Amino acid sequence: MITGHLGVAGILRSGSTRRTSTVLLLALLAASVAPDILDTVYFLLGFCSPYGLFSHTLYVVALQAGVLGGISFLATGSRATALIFAGVVLLHLPADLITGHKIMIPGGDLIGLYLYAHATLDWAVETPLALLGWWLLRRSARAPTWASSIGAAVFLVIVQTAVAGYALTHMTGVKPSACFALPAQSRADTRD
Ligand SMILES: [Zn+2]
Repeated sequence: MITGHLGVAGILRSGSTRRTSTVLLLALLAASVAPDILDTVYFLLGFCSPYGLFSHTLYVVALQAGVLGGISFLATGSRATALIFAGVVLLHLPADLITGHKIMIPGGDLIGLYLYAHATLDWAVETPLALLGWWLLRRSARAPTWASSIGAAVFLVIVQTAVAGYALTHMTGVKPSACFALPAQSRADTRD
């Protein structure tokens, strides 16, 4: 899942009674894709994390939720904000299980609906989720102007459409992996 994660962040933050600054919103959007950022760091380091073993398993996601929730609490002094940060990280996992497949525990089975096999279906799930987050945030009137703008919604649709187009034409994932040499792991298995 890609823009759907950002949608989840928007949905959770729209329930806050506090005004959301640009820095806070960007940090929250980054937290919503924290496991994918971790995968990107692993790739840059040339470190193989098969099927999200060191980024998307339950223990590692719980650890990321704790760390990012803690940092956001220290930075804002708001328990509600800390819970939202921890929440978007934890919700990354169920969202990924809709569009991809992952192992939940080391050595466990691969589970997930894997909508990535059908790029248009993936688009049909993620785009409304992203737009729902944008719309709720816009309706709350407590988000930065750029995030509430029509342009932000258009941007989300363009990104998700580009991802679907890439998947349809290349039949591969968009996320790089250092595991290409593993026979059991194809690029399609590592994307989200
Ligand atoms: Zn992910």
